[in-house]
Amino acid sequence: MEEKQLQSLKQHNATLCRFIVKLSAFYEGFSDKIDEELRVLRGHLSGTPNFNLAAVSIEKLNKLLQHQDITLRKYNTDTLSSLEDAMKQLQKIVFDDEELKGLATQELIKLNQPIGDIFSIYKLYSKAITLHRIALNKEMKGLKSVEPEAAPNADEPKSSAEDRNNYYYSILSELNQIIASYAQKKPNDKQLDDIKASLAEGVDEDQLLKSCVIILRMIVQDAMSEASFTGKVIQSLHSSLGKINNEVSESIKGSQTQFEQRKVGNQQLKSQIDTIEEAVSASDSLDSLKAQTQICVKSLVTTLNEQQSNDEQGQEALMALLSSMQERINTLQQQTSVYKKKLAEQAVQSRTDPLTRLPNRQTYNEKLEEAYSRFKAEDEPFAVAVMDIDHFKSINDRFGHAAGDKTLQAVSRFLHQNIKKPEFVARWGGEEFVLLLPNTSIEEVSKKLNDLRTQLASMPFKFKQEKVKITASFGATSFSQSDNTEKVFDRADEYLYAAKRNGRNRVVTDLNAE
Ligand code: GH3
Ligand code: MG
Ligand code: MG
Repeated sequence: MEEKQLQSLKQHNATLCRFIVKLSAFYEGFSDKIDEELRVLRGHLSGTPNFNLAAVSIEKLNKLLQHQDITLRKYNTDTLSSLEDAMKQLQKIVFDDEELKGLATQELIKLNQPIGDIFSIYKLYSKAITLHRIALNKEMKGLKSVEPEAAPNADEPKSSAEDRNNYYYSILSELNQIIASYAQKKPNDKQLDDIKASLAEGVDEDQLLKSCVIILRMIVQDAMSEASFTGKVIQSLHSSLGKINNEVSESIKGSQTQFEQRKVGNQQLKSQIDTIEEAVSASDSLDSLKAQTQICVKSLVTTLNEQQSNDEQGQEALMALLSSMQERINTLQQQTSVYKKKLAEQAVQSRTDPLTRLPNRQTYNEKLEEAYSRFKAEDEPFAVAVMDIDHFKSINDRFGHAAGDKTLQAVSRFLHQNIKKPEFVARWGGEEFVLLLPNTSIEEVSKKLNDLRTQLASMPFKFKQEKVKITASFGATSFSQSDNTEKVFDRADEYLYAAKRNGRNRVVTDLNAE
């Protein structure tokens, strides 16, 4: 070998050795065994390299690295799947938060794509941690605002994220119901419309609480103006009645004075007639009788005129009193009819569910009691049915609370159109409805409910361009003489849950209950 070639080979060897030394320094800390072997290798390559020993060491390192590669791949897979789980969990917790939900979804998509080098996992990890941190911050804020300062019972467990969500949604649902009720009273109220829109878009707990406070303020203001309206009507009635009372007493007093005056007048007339009589009997000449009579007749005419004008005045006063009383009564009638209308409206509202306009649970309870009494008296067949929309929560979760509300309204309209008197339907609460079916055998009930069920399932619902099938499960039972209203409802409810257990979108009645 030429000197020049040998020199170049030596240089290459030295470069290779430096590279291996640097590479081994980079891998230091990776695993104890590899560290040890790397140190050995560096020993063989430094100074005057011993390539034979270095080759043995490199072979050992190869094996160790191969084994390490398998372990690393397994770690990667485990890490990715635990990241995926964490993201799915996060999606569930933040499903009301469009932004966070979107970010979590993007992250999930990335996690399901082929991962580049090992460092990409670190990026995914750090993104996942950031998202969790944001969600946690929001969560803490929510917990702070809904939890009392000091826990009432130290043994009670702290509310979990799930508790918080349930709490949040039950408040949101109640608030939406109140708003629906107010929207009927105040159809063009801007503040109400704004709150409704922001709730539909999705709000955090802080904003939800603020909205609650605004609505509460509205309720109080409404109640106060209602009370002041009622107060004003009563005050006005009171003062009108007081005035009428005064006028009537004045009129009685006036009539008494008039009566006294008439008595005096009559007395005068009597004495004037007496005077004429005396004059007639005492008179000795026709002339003096004539003169006397003229005087007496004059005074008689005067007295009669006075009496007449007195009577006329009295009559006028009475007429004026009567017409003013008539006016007052007219005003009172108007006021009371407005008030009566308002009371009637309130009575209807208190019996109607504001979101769906169906009768509410209170009305159902009254109807059930009535129907039960009739059933006891007449022994006609009579059934109670409970209906519950299937997987309704997922409508809220996937398309938002406003879409959930619209679904409830559409289903209620459908029920209202298909349940005619003497049948009765009410919203029991949430996505549950109750039906009363008098004079109907359980076979007829089963057929009717199955018809409703299939019709509902074929109704076209569309949210965010996605066609959605809405189904419901039913439980129905007939009254028996040994039942009471609670027992019969509980049985219908049991059947409903049997329908749910057996796959939903089905009807369970006395006929097919297990
Ligand atoms: P299942 O088939 O077992 O009945 O499942 P589901 O999801 O229908 O039943 P679940 O009881 O789990 O959920 C009912 C959901 O209905 C929870 C609640 O947030 C929602 N909800 C209750 N009232 C209202 C409301 O007035 N409006 C809206 N949008 N959602 C409501
Ligand atoms: Mg349901
Ligand atoms: Mg339910």
